[in-house]
Amino acid sequence: MKMKMKMKMKTKTKTKTGMSVEHARVLDPRSGFSERSYEVEVRVDPLTGSICRINKSRAMRPKQQAPVQQAQRCEAPPSRCPFCPENIEKETPQFPADLVPGGRIRCGGAVLFPNLFPLAGLHGVCVFTPQHKLDLRSLLARELADGINCCKSFFEVGQSHGSPHHLLGWNFSSSAGASLLHPHFQVIASSREIEAVRLYAEASERYLRETGENYWAALASDSSSPRYIGRSGRFAWVAPWAPVGSLEVMGIYDGNGTGTGKTSLLELTEAEVDSLAEGIVKVIGVLSGQGVNAVNMGVFSVPDGDAESFSLSVRITARPGSNISDRAFLEIYGGEIGLTSLPEEYSKDFRAAFRG
Ligand SMILES: [Zn+2]
Repeated sequence: MKMKMKMKMKTKTKTKTGMSVEHARVLDPRSGFSERSYEVEVRVDPLTGSICRINKSRAMRPKQQAPVQQAQRCEAPPSRCPFCPENIEKETPQFPADLVPGGRIRCGGAVLFPNLFPLAGLHGVCVFTPQHKLDLRSLLARELADGINCCKSFFEVGQSHGSPHHLLGWNFSSSAGASLLHPHFQVIASSREIEAVRLYAEASERYLRETGENYWAALASDSSSPRYIGRSGRFAWVAPWAPVGSLEVMGIYDGNGTGTGKTSLLELTEAEVDSLAEGIVKVIGVLSGQGVNAVNMGVFSVPDGDAESFSLSVRITARPGSNISDRAFLEIYGGEIGLTSLPEEYSKDFRAAFRG
């Protein structure tokens, strides 16, 4: 994740310098072994230096599926789901009263309780709808906003208990990493910075030093970019130059050039949480319309961060719906991401949704 010094340029010219093109020449058995050439765009993220390789023709590759295990086909009937209303009180854990009086945090229809299998000293699960919804497009902005508000309260608990750093994540569906299907956020509060959030904040400071520009403000205000999608309140939505996943979209808190940037979820007003949730619902609506029913989301939030260089942002990416993984040799060991869609092209579908 090294910053490339060559990336020192204005936002609008990034597309020209952060990329190289490779051509793969192949004698194709499907056309009598005639020669074909495939173009691969190798893109470097201007902030983090992460790399993706985009080859549109890979979308057409044949995919064989291993026999699907019965367990993957079965959805736990709601009567067995610990997150459904009839079970949640007796089957989910509670925080000790000195951390959370009453044991669980509630906001509207959302409930947040400890993860029974934690990855941090403070690791919560936020069930943001009482309904056992398995269809991405059925989720409502009100439900997501309740969930985000619940997570904010959890992060405040972390702040007052020596764990000021946090991450809000979302795995929707088993292929996105959810072990229980009932929609829920994952939240971690930790005494140490979450690594990716730390890298973003550091790279943002470096970017400001080297270019004199706030990376996030430049991205959010560049509405002429082919990757610009639209706005929901104070959030600007864009497709990243070098996505880290399929059909990835980012929402960026935009201080609108007023010097009122925000770096953390904790700073958001209720209305801003609502507009963040509305943006997320638009994004997942478009993904759902394209047949996607599994997503990951991460919120990059830095409490008491440097608003001169950093802005609160959220990233959402599609995950495969079948048992074919989108994380393979290149992603696991190559440190790069293989993709099949150009952000300049898929951003059009999202743009239409944000206009409506
Ligand atoms: Zn359920």
